[in-house]
Amino acid sequence: MSISLDTTVSSLMTNRRRVGALKSLGVLTVHDAITYYPFRVTDPVPLLPLRSITVGTAAAFAGVVRELRVRPLAARRGYRLEALVDDTEFALEHSVRPSSANLVFFSYKKHFVDWLSSRLGQGSSIVVQGESSFFNDRLQFTHPETLVIGKDVGTADEGLARVSRPRPVYHANSRISSEHIHESILSMLQALAESDETVGTSTSPNPDALADADERGGDDRKVSAEELGRAIPDIVPEDIRLSNGAMHRAEAIVAMHEPTDAKEFARAIATLRYEEAFISQTALLRSREGVRATPGYACPVDEEHRLPEDFVASLPFDLTAGQHEVIDAIQEDMAKPYPMQRLLQGEVGSGKTVVCVAAMLQAVDSGNQAVLVAPTQVLAEQHYQTISDMVQKLSVGQTAGAGSEAKNTVPVVLLTGGMRLAQRRKVLALAASGEPCIVIATHAAFSTTFQAPNLALVVIDEQHRFGVEQREALRRKNEIAPHLLIMTATPIPRTAALTWFGDLDISELRELPGGRKPIRTIVVQEADGSTMSRMFLHIRQRVEAGERAYIVCPRIDESSEAEEDPEGGAPMSPDDSEQENEAVPLHSVEEIERRLQALPQLKGLRIATLTGRDDDETKQQVMKDFAAGESPVLVATTVIEVGVDVPQASCIVVFDADRFGLSQLHQLRGRVGRGGTKSWAFFISRAEQDSIAAQRLAIIEHSSDGTEIAQADLELRGAGDVLGDAQSGGRSSLKLLRVVKDADVVVHAREQAAELLARDPELSHETILAGAVLDFIRGNEAFLATT
Ligand code: ADP
Ligand code: MG
Repeated sequence: MSISLDTTVSSLMTNRRRVGALKSLGVLTVHDAITYYPFRVTDPVPLLPLRSITVGTAAAFAGVVRELRVRPLAARRGYRLEALVDDTEFALEHSVRPSSANLVFFSYKKHFVDWLSSRLGQGSSIVVQGESSFFNDRLQFTHPETLVIGKDVGTADEGLARVSRPRPVYHANSRISSEHIHESILSMLQALAESDETVGTSTSPNPDALADADERGGDDRKVSAEELGRAIPDIVPEDIRLSNGAMHRAEAIVAMHEPTDAKEFARAIATLRYEEAFISQTALLRSREGVRATPGYACPVDEEHRLPEDFVASLPFDLTAGQHEVIDAIQEDMAKPYPMQRLLQGEVGSGKTVVCVAAMLQAVDSGNQAVLVAPTQVLAEQHYQTISDMVQKLSVGQTAGAGSEAKNTVPVVLLTGGMRLAQRRKVLALAASGEPCIVIATHAAFSTTFQAPNLALVVIDEQHRFGVEQREALRRKNEIAPHLLIMTATPIPRTAALTWFGDLDISELRELPGGRKPIRTIVVQEADGSTMSRMFLHIRQRVEAGERAYIVCPRIDESSEAEEDPEGGAPMSPDDSEQENEAVPLHSVEEIERRLQALPQLKGLRIATLTGRDDDETKQQVMKDFAAGESPVLVATTVIEVGVDVPQASCIVVFDADRFGLSQLHQLRGRVGRGGTKSWAFFISRAEQDSIAAQRLAIIEHSSDGTEIAQADLELRGAGDVLGDAQSGGRSSLKLLRVVKDADVVVHAREQAAELLARDPELSHETILAGAVLDFIRGNEAFLATT
């Protein structure tokens, strides 16, 4: 039978239960099996003469069978086989007095007992490995692993080397043990090695290169890497592999599943980890090149196109150095005839809006259109307000300054699903006319009724689920692809960004403008009544000084689940990785509002609520009253998380803070202190001291650097939680590459991938690599395009 990596497990294995169990691990094909890597190897088993063995620990020794007895079991069906073994020669080698031990096996199967008896016949020299116990005054090994010298192995030394070898340990489940997984994988590797199918390639390891494997002194493995080379060809080009001192792919796969020692296992991991980094970076660099071959709008900034510059000059403040830098980079990008693909990462309040307005004006200035897509209606409206103000001031300033014919006012329009039909028609008509304009929109921009024939720039603000379909929907609208600017306040550690967004150019805004003060952050134990009480008193005082306070709860009411943003804009729902304390219900907006109404500290203050369940009109009204100070205390779910801007807000209280993700808390914290006032964040926690949750809160209590927080969060929780599942690589082809720790590997792989692509942009000499790159893109496109 010819077997390839695509062969299904079910066509190779007759044991249906085993096939089903492997399936439950996601192992359906031979490829899945050989890339189902162990997560560690056991320590090598020590070689010890019987006298030196400590009862209860694993050890290996060589001995001779002196006596063999098979007895039927009295109480049950079945047999007990007992072999008395002594270690005379082995003990003498170790200068210890010889001793003896019993090997005991139980079985219901007569044929197994017969087979075992013939192997372990009197006088057989064997090697034994197992855990010992003490029974009937004698050392005993129950169901040990045995190798018969002269049958299974040539010499005792060979046998000892084999049984003492470290064992790979796999993630198992209730249906299949690590040992059985191991056995299955080895049998598939063996089948693959023996298969007559040849994948004719020049990149299979040559026998010379594998010679060093043989030198390791009697490589007695079940599977030979040399034979596997045909079925598992190298992906990384030979010169790059050699320059890294890496193993062949086949060699590394064998060493993963059947390592001779821990060192070899480590080398195999390094080899395969690099391979993952290399494939993904090659894919990302190629996709980037692909974009450069797509026609886009060239929007220059020069003597005749000064709108962005005039805009910057019209602002009542100076740009931060970071803002200048990013605006310059964007101006350069958008002047090119292919679409920009830029990710702008910036702390909450770092001033991303100004940057994107400059970019939108650049599009408009060259006679084109721009759209800004916000995640929620509230945010779209806010952007609409601030951006029309800014742009209007710009036009007024121009008229006064120029004296003569001023540039026309740039039309700024709002497009949301909740708008009156007549108004919406007007906006849609303007966009469809192709006239230069700035459209501020919600998801309505993705609907087919929105047409903008001269759309030169799409800005995506704070959308964590902006997937490939939406990007495509925008692109497909016109023949020329728009420039793309994705803005996010979710800090992504540098290497994670490189690993997942390597096809985008990345800019960062790290400083807060206007000398804004960091927010005092205090973690409060909910059970600490006196601190809780002082906190509410503090809030009272701030409100009386003309400021506002947000109170955030994870749920709407007692019956609801933890809330997610209704429009899908919120990055994460409260952390569900620690749902085991489910017995304690999370606080809800309804409950906390009730309790605050009764609180003496807040007596006489109007307290409003805001949740995703409110309709848009209500939401708007509530936000207006809050901003105006009519109701200075707002109890809300995380709907306020993204972008909401009320400069007078100085306090935020988050209930059940221990159940939120750190980046989310950081976002929430960014809702206050936007007006330059001193501000406070109180994170109320019910987490046990020293729990992971408490450690995480300590991180955010002591750091205001979003990137640092994300990094620490990643280390405490693993990538999946921080980046969202699609990005965690759970099912992706990245199995060994770790986002935080493997920074160097990723950077090195990127360099080598760039060098290779410079030589061979189409990968025409690297067919195997080209295939792997394609698989990577197919399997991962969902998260490549997502922020
Ligand atoms: P974010 O990056 O969170 O979207 P915004 O763009 O909303 O931040 O900016 C936050 C506030 O800071 C806004 O009120 C904005 O007008 C102000 N701002 C932006 N840039 C500067 C600056 N260079 N100096 C002073 N204030 C600024
Ligand atoms: Mg913003």
